[in-house]
Amino acid sequence: MSKVENIDPKTGPNGSAEFPTPYLGRTVRMVSEFQNVDMNQSPHPKNQRGELGKPLFNWYHNTVSKDPLTRVSAPNHFADRRHFLSTVVNQAAKGNVNPKKVPVGDPAAMARHIKAVAHYMGADIVRVAKAHPSFLYASGGGRYVQDGTAKDEYSAYTPEQLARQFPYIVVATTAWDYNKLQAHRHLIGDAAYHISQIKGNMILKALEGYIKELGYTALRGVAIPQAAGIASGVGELGRNGLVISKDYGARVHMPDPIMTDLPLEADAPLDIGVDDFCKVCRKCANTCPTNSIPVGDKVVHNGIEKYKINWLTCYKLRPYVHDHWGSCLTCAAVCPYTKPKTWWHNVATSALHYCPFVLRPVLVKFLKWIDDEFWGLVRNARVTWLGYDSGVKPGEHACTVAGCNASHEKAGAKAVAGNVGYYAPLKENTNRFVKREP
Ligand code: SF4
Ligand code: SF4
Repeated sequence: MSKVENIDPKTGPNGSAEFPTPYLGRTVRMVSEFQNVDMNQSPHPKNQRGELGKPLFNWYHNTVSKDPLTRVSAPNHFADRRHFLSTVVNQAAKGNVNPKKVPVGDPAAMARHIKAVAHYMGADIVRVAKAHPSFLYASGGGRYVQDGTAKDEYSAYTPEQLARQFPYIVVATTAWDYNKLQAHRHLIGDAAYHISQIKGNMILKALEGYIKELGYTALRGVAIPQAAGIASGVGELGRNGLVISKDYGARVHMPDPIMTDLPLEADAPLDIGVDDFCKVCRKCANTCPTNSIPVGDKVVHNGIEKYKINWLTCYKLRPYVHDHWGSCLTCAAVCPYTKPKTWWHNVATSALHYCPFVLRPVLVKFLKWIDDEFWGLVRNARVTWLGYDSGVKPGEHACTVAGCNASHEKAGAKAVAGNVGYYAPLKENTNRFVKREP
């Protein structure tokens, strides 16, 4: 038997009587020894220290976007950082916990209440994970709060100590607008992505304050968003390395979640057939302009069996496209799960959920065929919004206002012929306007 098959699924190499190996659904398995991730080794901190090369360092520190909407919504490309709301929110002083604790007799009722509050604040999906040490960043590395600091009396706690004292992780997500995402690799797609990110930061900050006002601790920057998102059933992990949700597919942000001692009832991982779908689909891998997504099988990386994307090649694209757009998002946009929240989308994901495992390959092939027929490999929809036009070749904007990169079609910008979007051809084999066999 392989090392993987020898693992006791209950306690496993990362499990103990106190913290059994967590069940993470069908897309991710903990199969061998896991080392907690040092947040200092994640992409943005490495880039801030200049460890990813000069082009990325300069992109991160020394570029001001030509586009005014990008300057207020995307991190680090502003002319004045005070215009970027997340900076203000993340650097705000931490509030104290209200000494008058609200008693919680029914954790399930409190979980429903917290979800209702977060939804009212604007969150699209809210779930609760039971905390496990493996979901947390390594101790001693500091907290992950972009552009902010979070020092408190728990900063030196080990992951086990944190999971013991704060047994729940509240995950609240915001979804990107479906129609604007069709103009990915464009300033329109960037706006959908970045503005929902800001909304997520605001919601999580408000929810953190709400939990403290109830008399309980709320910690940020300690839990890995994807781990908590998968454990709590926000979604399953796709081949594209993204959390894929039932209602919004891959178009969800995974903001920094809240770890708390507020008594709650935890949710379970989701099953919407992502594991079955990714085995045959590969749309994300076929369209990724940097070939960062694997076409092969899952691998074991740091004790976790999953599809492993090459985040470095994905990340390194950014400085070279900065003049035209910021975030690629192709792997999120092309995923068959990324659809509008409609009855037919709900029917498809529910069918996958209830379909017996043995019949799923047949159902997946049928749904993939429908997806190919109606949407193709990449949707070619032309999107116009606020004067921006995804049918205009980047750089051929006609606006004469200094500093504005919007195309403002009435001002005479040249549109690409036909009702299609324009995508800079980043790799020859992408062929995104040609229908291909799966
Ligand atoms: S964001 Fe773009 S470059 Fe990065 S993995 Fe997804 S498709 Fe590839
Ligand atoms: S595009 Fe296909 S292979 Fe990629 S994550 Fe979505 S379902 Fe999986």
